[in-house]
Amino acid sequence: MKSTRCLSAIALSLALALPAGADDLNTTLPSLPDLGASSQEGLTGAQERQIGESAMREIRRSGELLDDAQVQAYVNALGSKLVDASGSDIQFTFFPVDNKQVNAFSIPGGYVGVNTGLIVMAQHESELAAVLSHEIAHNTQHHLARMVEGLRFTPWMMLASLGLAILAARAGNGDAGMAAVATGQGLAIQKQLDFTYAFEQEADRIGMQTLTKSGFDPAAMPTFFERLQKSNRLFESNAPEFLRTHPVTYKRIADAEARLKDRAYKQYPDSADFLFMRERARVLQGQAKELVEYYQKSLIEKRYTNLPAHLYGLALAQLQAHQLAEAEKSLASAKQAFGAKHSHPALESLTGDIQLAEGKSQDAVATYAKAVRQFPDKTSLRYGQLDAMLSAGQAPEALKLVQEYEVSYPSDALFYQRESRIQEKLGKQAEKHKAQAEYYARLNENGAAIEQLQLAKSQPGGDFYLMSGIEARLRELEAQNKLDNENKPKL
Ligand SMILES: [Zn+2]
Repeated sequence: MKSTRCLSAIALSLALALPAGADDLNTTLPSLPDLGASSQEGLTGAQERQIGESAMREIRRSGELLDDAQVQAYVNALGSKLVDASGSDIQFTFFPVDNKQVNAFSIPGGYVGVNTGLIVMAQHESELAAVLSHEIAHNTQHHLARMVEGLRFTPWMMLASLGLAILAARAGNGDAGMAAVATGQGLAIQKQLDFTYAFEQEADRIGMQTLTKSGFDPAAMPTFFERLQKSNRLFESNAPEFLRTHPVTYKRIADAEARLKDRAYKQYPDSADFLFMRERARVLQGQAKELVEYYQKSLIEKRYTNLPAHLYGLALAQLQAHQLAEAEKSLASAKQAFGAKHSHPALESLTGDIQLAEGKSQDAVATYAKAVRQFPDKTSLRYGQLDAMLSAGQAPEALKLVQEYEVSYPSDALFYQRESRIQEKLGKQAEKHKAQAEYYARLNENGAAIEQLQLAKSQPGGDFYLMSGIEARLRELEAQNKLDNENKPKL
């Protein structure tokens, strides 16, 4: 953000530009303007990536990201499965946003945000996959790049402000504000909306192909739209976020349904990951005590879709409400309902977390160590394991382990975040700042990374090898920063 003045001058235009770029699951209008080939004259792939990184930095700073490794890992795994099926070679990042509004949005460069409200509202995994596929298509079809051409804005104006505009749209009643701005501009933006509708239609069509290829139910797309529309009619004052900006049209639903003609009936079972993570999202976005009541009441009335996941949600809500003995009991029932023979990482992780809350940190270490062996591909269990070791006063062992994990998962920022905490516990200030720098570097926060390395450098008593390592890394990041700035055209 170089110039505030410049930003405010174009803020209005950006708010208008947003609907297609950072998508609300908008609608289609009947007319389909000629979009031309998937031209990217307005933005190169590298520029799209930089827009995405810049917007991500702002979203991260806003504190709206859901800080939960398990839900994050789940949306990424689901998203990756869909990206593989789509055949795209863009490197995607999916991230959960702590927001009850039913919405998802796409940012150029392969970033897709998913509100917890959307995860909670999805009746089946295919519905969540349908929205993600739609968002992936916005990215792979370079809709923002194509819109930028139509708008005749320089891409760098978008780059500077996309993140801010997203935040403005998300803050408080911002979504309503967005709609008001859009309406106020009337005809002036009609051309742009035409683009938007065409993009929506294209994202629906390509998204449904992705759904089919990845083994999800393509019918989930129209089903989900239809349900949203119904809920909109029933609860007009509390309509899902994306219906407010542009209503889902019957045409859009009909188009999606038409693509399903002559399809043989098939069952699409939900994964256990989806069932557990949906409850996790529900608890993390809500109020613990209210949720305990909600789960207990629906348990009595037998209003639940999956008993183990429902009991897991109850146990998690009880843990959040500090009802530890009850949480333990509910979790035991969840495990029993899930089946004694096999467990699930979410159940094991919750076992460890309840033990930690009870002050049984040694037990938690053992629980997590066992779970890591049982589910070696779930990195979130490894974070839990390190956190438990730190609580149990095993900082030296935790340091050894985290450094092994950093070698195995070199691009994973969260291991460096853990290392920084461990180094602090061990009283190693220079190492602490160095690890924190590596954490920031992996989030494309080079400025913050350089700051941390300078702090690391200024610590007294560091040995020669450590200090020359810090020096070398500092030079590397500074050179990279310089290069990035040089490549950035002036606004
Ligand atoms: Zn869309």
